[in-house]
Amino acid sequence: MAVSLYGPEDARQTVCVYLEHNAGRLEDVSLGLISKALELTSGSDWRVCGLILGDDTRKPAQEALARGLGEVISIQHEIMTRFDVSAFTRACFEVILQEKPAVFILGATPDGRDLAGRLAVRLRTGLNADCTDLRLNLETGQLISEVSGFGGGVIALLESPAHRPQMSTVRPGVFEQQFVRPVKSGVIRQIDVSLSRSDLQSELLERSVGERLDLSKSQVLICGGRGMHGEFVQLNALAEQLGGEVGATRPPVDEGYIERERQIGQTGVVCRPKLAVTCGISGAFHFVVGIQEADTVVAINIDPQAEIFNYCDYGVVADAHQVIPALIEALARESHSSHA
Ligand SMILES: Cc1cc2nc3c(=O)[nH]c(=O)nc-3n(C[C@H](O)[C@H](O)[C@H](O)COP(=O)(O)OP(=O)(O)OC[C@H]3O[C@@H](n4cnc5c(N)ncnc54)[C@H](O)[C@@H]3O)c2cc1C
Repeated sequence: MAVSLYGPEDARQTVCVYLEHNAGRLEDVSLGLISKALELTSGSDWRVCGLILGDDTRKPAQEALARGLGEVISIQHEIMTRFDVSAFTRACFEVILQEKPAVFILGATPDGRDLAGRLAVRLRTGLNADCTDLRLNLETGQLISEVSGFGGGVIALLESPAHRPQMSTVRPGVFEQQFVRPVKSGVIRQIDVSLSRSDLQSELLERSVGERLDLSKSQVLICGGRGMHGEFVQLNALAEQLGGEVGATRPPVDEGYIERERQIGQTGVVCRPKLAVTCGISGAFHFVVGIQEADTVVAINIDPQAEIFNYCDYGVVADAHQVIPALIEALARESHSSHA
């Protein structure tokens, strides 16, 4: 078994959160991780710090303090104008060896995944990817990472007793952002790392950013499954009427009825809408993890035995192709009479 570069005896009682940012603002996934780290260590002597990298980290570092972190370690360097896995790994590696946190957590975003994998190899430690929850034993310093395994059929609890830092990535949307009072004495600590242009392994030739749909921010989700048989027109109309977005299970995405960015669930987007309406969806675990934190779930399924009825607040046993147009009509009538 590989031996990590430092072990439990040398690790500090610290949870370090990797802070991703864009255009001067922290990404939502980082805000969720800050909340979770503060919750895990609440009332203890454990320290929670953020680690932020970039050519200008001032604004997002301040935001992290405003969200309750007592300390943010900032690595500012002119070459870090954008994420470069080689340079970022090198910088994080130096800081981690210096700080020796017991726990290091990152968002399971494209950059976070890339960085976490390289860093774990370099630190010779383990990495628990795509966790659905985290727990921390404050006495032993043991992080317990929850992941779903065997196609969602089991929940596995993973521990790394001998390796430090204990590293986990968590997908966007899994942790709620809690608003906590900022720490008055919060500090941003600049650390210098030795980096040069030769540490960059990629060159940016052109940046083209398309309009990005973020289903995790939608308050109303109308979700269609295989039972819609590719008929998403009415779901679009209902979503529009309710000011929401349309999401889907994997089968209609795989069959090309709807864009992949609208897939909800374990390998799609994890959402926390106020209202989720599921139409023609059986309720497989892989899908349910994407909506189980919704305030209210309404399920429409023709099969009274469908698993989805175990996860909903309101269940309608009926043909979705009949219920949806009736619902659209009733909402239109309602809105008409309230404007009359
Ligand atoms: C590793 C892995 C990752 C996965 N990740 C995801 C993921 O991120 N998201 C995801 O969604 N899936 C994911 N899946 C697939 C997942 O396991 C299920 O297969 C999928 O969610 C099922 O989609 P469904 O409910 O639309 O289809 P089905 O399970 O086929 O259910 C269709 C339902 O429609 C109902 N129905 C049929 N006709 C009507 C009608 N006229 N009106 C009303 N109801 C009707 C049926 O009774 C049935 O319950 C993953 C699978 C694996 C192995």
